[in-house]
Amino acid sequence: METIVIVGGGAGGLELATRLGDTLGASKRSRIVLVDRWPGHFWKPLLHTVASGKCDPQVSELPFSAQALDHDFEFVQGDMLCMDRAHQTITLSPRDGGDGACRVIAYDKLVLALGSVTNFFGVPGAQEHALTLDSVADAEHFRRRFFNACIHAGEHKKPVNVVIVGGGATGVELAAELSNTARTLAAYRVHELDPEQDIRITLIERGQHLLPQLDPLQAQRAARHLRTLGIEVLTSIAVASVSADAVTDAEGVARPADLVLWAAGVEAPPLCATLGLSVNHLKKIMVDASLRSTNDSRIYALGDCANYVCPVKGPTPPRAQVAHQQAMFLADLLARKDDTPCPDFRYHDYGSLISLGQQAAVGALTGPVSGRRYRVGGPFASVMYRLLYQKHLLQLHGAVPMLTHTLADWLRARVLPPVRLHR
Ligand SMILES: Cc1cc2nc3c(=O)[nH]c(=O)nc-3n(C[C@H](O)[C@H](O)[C@H](O)COP(=O)(O)OP(=O)(O)OC[C@H]3O[C@@H](n4cnc5c(N)ncnc54)[C@H](O)[C@@H]3O)c2cc1C
Repeated sequence: METIVIVGGGAGGLELATRLGDTLGASKRSRIVLVDRWPGHFWKPLLHTVASGKCDPQVSELPFSAQALDHDFEFVQGDMLCMDRAHQTITLSPRDGGDGACRVIAYDKLVLALGSVTNFFGVPGAQEHALTLDSVADAEHFRRRFFNACIHAGEHKKPVNVVIVGGGATGVELAAELSNTARTLAAYRVHELDPEQDIRITLIERGQHLLPQLDPLQAQRAARHLRTLGIEVLTSIAVASVSADAVTDAEGVARPADLVLWAAGVEAPPLCATLGLSVNHLKKIMVDASLRSTNDSRIYALGDCANYVCPVKGPTPPRAQVAHQQAMFLADLLARKDDTPCPDFRYHDYGSLISLGQQAAVGALTGPVSGRRYRVGGPFASVMYRLLYQKHLLQLHGAVPMLTHTLADWLRARVLPPVRLHR
């Protein structure tokens, strides 16, 4: 029986494993193996809500083993370290990260869905002093640091300065959520700071406006909204260095920073550049229109770690909707019984939605027939934004479990404080 190994159970990888398990795994046509370094799946676009304390990942995380049992695939927890293309094997870290032997898994087909990591662009001090939002562990680390900084500053009657570098979706969404968290923690008397005066959140963007994926009008709308939340929005400012207590721009202006979050861009994980496959300048694996590595027809890549250049729209952006569409494409391609030619992958950009916190969002949606972009905002955009996650749950669980999860989240929100109140 053919073995298909998928490395990375993120937005794209887990949807692919689930779909292939339901088709090839259930009918015993293929053995489907999913590998991830973590025991559970968390949808990355919601990481800013973990960092702000709005979401408890322990509650929202989906254990891979449970999904594997329900959908006829195998799950192996481990960090992929390297690959032997001649023998068609990958090597994983020792079990539980201990000092035992590395494990080797053989594949007939391999799908790399490794996601992305923060790109520091070589800015001095950024990697050493700034925090990132690459994983749940990173988001939890940020949350604890923010929480401690608020309590410490309250005790010493001094302000907290949080600087977010990068005005893309991650930076904007986190800034909005943090401002809400600061007010909520004050309302619950977790700290003694005035959230308006004493918790200063600054968002720094190098470009002329925030959110480069939106038109300038929508970006201005987002910036206005953030300013009403008390967030300082600075554009056309390039960060030149980061130190333990300041962020300095290219003009030499140093801004005090107790906490720095770097969200200025992403690149593929360093592993991608060590596999002997062709990669681009961001270490993304070069793939053809079947999402196959240009060097090895048994290896596929999808999502943030893949460099697919659409003949019409150019390189696909690092977005969950790309990972989802590529996962569905590969689920179809890999489940084909014969070698009939498969149509090329085509990326459909359905638009972009950015959460601005409580009942607010901004973005643009693409009309399905006309292809026109429609600007959206306010509560309508906020509902549309939340539906994106429901769509992901639908892919993973089907309609009834998705509705049950949604109801459970709604009930939890009715009985629990809006943010986590402890370290
Ligand atoms: C805060 C934030 C907000 C975002 N908001 C949006 C949004 O609103 N809309 C949107 O479309 N996109 C958004 N994105 C981007 C989106 O999350 C990514 O594009 C998407 O998750 C990519 O999916 P993926 O499957 O390629 O990788 P990921 O979802 O990142 O999954 C990669 C998986 O690979 C695993 N892995 C990595 N290396 C190894 C290894 N060596 N061994 C084993 N396992 C490994 C990781 O543990 C992870 O589970 C956001 C991202 C962030 C951080």
